[in-house]
Amino acid sequence: MLRFAPSPTGDMHIGNLRVALFNYISAVQRDEPLLIRIEDTDKERNIPGKEKEIFEILALFGIEYQEEQLQSNNLRFHRAMALQLLQDKQAFNCFCTPETLETKREASKEGKIAYRYDGTCENLHAEDVIDNPLPFTIRLKKPNHPITVTDIIKGDSTFAADDIDSFILMSADKYPTYDFACAVDDMLSDISLIIRSEDYLSNTPKQIAIHEALGYTKKVEYAHLPILLEGSVSIKWLLEEGYLPEAITNYLILIGNQPPCEIFNLKEAIKWFDLKTLSKAPARFDIDKLKFINREHLRGLDPKELSRYVGFADEEIGNLAKLFLEEASTLKELRLKIGAIFAPKIVPDEYKEGFEILRNLTQKAPHFDDYESYKSYLIEHSGLKGKNLFNPLRILLSGAEHGPEMSDLYTLIKNYLKEVAK
Ligand code: GLU
Repeated sequence: MLRFAPSPTGDMHIGNLRVALFNYISAVQRDEPLLIRIEDTDKERNIPGKEKEIFEILALFGIEYQEEQLQSNNLRFHRAMALQLLQDKQAFNCFCTPETLETKREASKEGKIAYRYDGTCENLHAEDVIDNPLPFTIRLKKPNHPITVTDIIKGDSTFAADDIDSFILMSADKYPTYDFACAVDDMLSDISLIIRSEDYLSNTPKQIAIHEALGYTKKVEYAHLPILLEGSVSIKWLLEEGYLPEAITNYLILIGNQPPCEIFNLKEAIKWFDLKTLSKAPARFDIDKLKFINREHLRGLDPKELSRYVGFADEEIGNLAKLFLEEASTLKELRLKIGAIFAPKIVPDEYKEGFEILRNLTQKAPHFDDYESYKSYLIEHSGLKGKNLFNPLRILLSGAEHGPEMSDLYTLIKNYLKEVAK
């Protein structure tokens, strides 16, 4: 089983979605189930409603999964495993107060040495533990050997036991820390491959140390994805701006990969995607690249579907929207372009008179199937020519002073002409 483990502590951003996509693709490729585990154990930072939003986004992006879990529902397992570790003497109760620890941490800082837990509570007598009324945390005993993380993308990284240290598994409020909850849950769900952001690479030896202490011997595979710089752009915002889910998916899979072609969909990516060939270097979110990809996906949309996205249900309007893809990259921009065609026009003073003449003539005009006939009719009846004809005419037909070829424009709006010139 693979898992995507988001925290409901903020808007889902492109970095999270990329992790979700890579987990989904890998689960399909390996023919293993995918679990969505909402990591809601950081009670203070949880935001109500965020988990619902996460599931909505996964659905919108076609990320199918077979199981879902709320990490907080596993609390009894976290506590049971902590007790087991205490009994097995793999963990110990620590009564050091946060203030004492902070003072020691400060002293290390001043002495310019890395802070390490000094083992104060590691060998307390049983009576000192049992009779102690003070709040306590539970710490894992520092491992007695270095731990090597083997990563599909990054290769091997070895962490010294001293750097892993005797870290906290259960806080004084009797809730697990992220590392402990995560390691226990991954074990209970029999996770085979963990794909997550490189930010978590330094957590991995701790989680391996927990597995070892629990006697869990399964060889879990790891893939830590290189950092996506400036990757905190929220998915909600991108969707509101009018980026298609297919385009966002395409862009996020493209980063760091060498696909057979630049424009593809999720199904196609499953055929060639290979975690092993992913670039090790961090990438930077590039909105211009996303814009380019979005335009390509908009271009490829069925015109009827595109027209619905811009508020119509007419194939012609979909084709009209496509005309604007030279200058517009998102649905929001396309809606503005199409909106301007149907909105009352703002006309510079110098063209006001010509504009009114053309507007009246258009209102009275018979239907012309092609732009040339319409244009001849206007020339004949208005007496306007050159820029005095074409500039106000462009404003009349598009609400803008620049844009696509008028003949292309005319063909697609001719059935709406009276409305456009109202
Ligand atoms: N809850 C972590 C996050 O939201 C995920 C950690 C993990 O995948 O182990 O990024």
